[in-house]
Amino acid sequence: MCKSKLNSFMYVERIRHVLCSNPDKRYLLVRSNIRDFKLVNQIFGFPKGNEILRCMKKLIVEHGRYFEVFDQLHVDQFVFLIEKDKFEEELFRRIAQVCSEFIDNPGFRMHFQLGVYEITDPEMEVLSMCDRAKLAIKSIKIDEPFSVAWYDESIMEERLYSKKIISEFDSALKENRFLLYLQPQANTKGEIISAEALSRWLLEDGTILSPSQFIHILEDSELIWKLDLYMWDKAASLLSEWKEDPEKKNLSLSVNISPKDLYYLDIAKILIGLVQKYDISPCKMNVEITECSFVNSPELYVDLIAKLHDAGFSIEIDDFGSGYSSLTLLKNLHADVLKLDMGFLQDTDDLIRSEIIIDSVIEMAKRLDMQVISEGVETQEQAAFLKINGCDFFQGFYFSRPVPSDKFDTVLKAYNLERTNSKSVRPKSLRDLVQEAV
Ligand code: C2E
Ligand code: CA
Ligand code: CA
Repeated sequence: MCKSKLNSFMYVERIRHVLCSNPDKRYLLVRSNIRDFKLVNQIFGFPKGNEILRCMKKLIVEHGRYFEVFDQLHVDQFVFLIEKDKFEEELFRRIAQVCSEFIDNPGFRMHFQLGVYEITDPEMEVLSMCDRAKLAIKSIKIDEPFSVAWYDESIMEERLYSKKIISEFDSALKENRFLLYLQPQANTKGEIISAEALSRWLLEDGTILSPSQFIHILEDSELIWKLDLYMWDKAASLLSEWKEDPEKKNLSLSVNISPKDLYYLDIAKILIGLVQKYDISPCKMNVEITECSFVNSPELYVDLIAKLHDAGFSIEIDDFGSGYSSLTLLKNLHADVLKLDMGFLQDTDDLIRSEIIIDSVIEMAKRLDMQVISEGVETQEQAAFLKINGCDFFQGFYFSRPVPSDKFDTVLKAYNLERTNSKSVRPKSLRDLVQEAV
């Protein structure tokens, strides 16, 4: 066993030495981290933070016999070389547990994270091994007090993919490679009354990336505000084109606000500026704010919503039901529309219980003077159930997938103007189907 040394890179030499001296043994390079340790210092003070770190070091030293090498990399981060057969997750879990007990506040949980890289190529640079263990930590998405992630090549691939997205984003934006797609929203008569503006990324080879392939990367890298600015402008510009069109002048568009936008943009000022620039009515531009945004900074949103309301915008709470804060949120925020995510209905084995919840949520929204739109509606049965229970608007593949904005006309004609065409893929118009659904 090697002792930890103060010299910052001694662990690299020690690890190299152990690996070279024991070519037949299998080792793991493990890194530990306390997520947002800065917050511990900020909220509970540096003396408390130091107490936790001292305890952690003491426990690690006490268990030193399990590690071939260990060292403190940075304040709350440690590195370990462990023989594969001796690795015990439970040991680290116990250390995390003991350290957590220093925080006597039910509202705050510490998150201990462990990244494990199994050394398959002992010749690899030790720092590259450390990077891999760090990437494993970064891949942890769950919010548990203790979590472990093992590195595998897909983590590296994901990392490289993210880098590519980030490096190509600015030029794609300049070259207008982001497309505006629209997904229609219908009322209970089956008429299309609005649409949600969704982005797609058109690559040079003609491939179209869906938001799940780039939005989270742009959010994590704090770039999403640039895309949102661009998409809001496109939506406002389209609304101004529609103003003169008798078929579309009454339609509205919903735009998405990312939780990160709030930190980079004066959202109210920008949206007010856009309705002035394009001379459109703010009541035609609905603002979708996702439920999870409110959890992080509720007071900022109360202020934003008040400003947007004053200016005449309608506010929708997006993805309602997918987070954990739904009831507190409804108490504090005066939104106009609740957007119910039907995803949880689709994932369930117990349809009856889910339906009771949906029914009650719709009733509650009504009593709070909010309208309800359900998204992710995929079947006629769902549309019927929602309509019977008082849902006002519908969005989902059952009605239409998102379509490029220049194809929206065709969808509109099919639904609002054309009568049933027996040769069409759909047996009946949307209006017929929703009306029949009750
Ligand atoms: P969202 O705001 O919840 O948008 C609805 C998503 O549900 C869309 O996915 C839509 O295609 C999908 N969807 C619609 N109907 C159905 C259905 O019946 N079944 C199922 N399974 N899915 C359905 P899309 O277009 O891939 O967008 C995914 C998410 O990406 C959006 O979720 C939104 O959060 C985000 N997003 C898209 N465009 C933008 C944007 O320009 N800015 C920001 N900030 N976020 C965006
Ligand atoms: Ca949305
Ligand atoms: Ca949604």
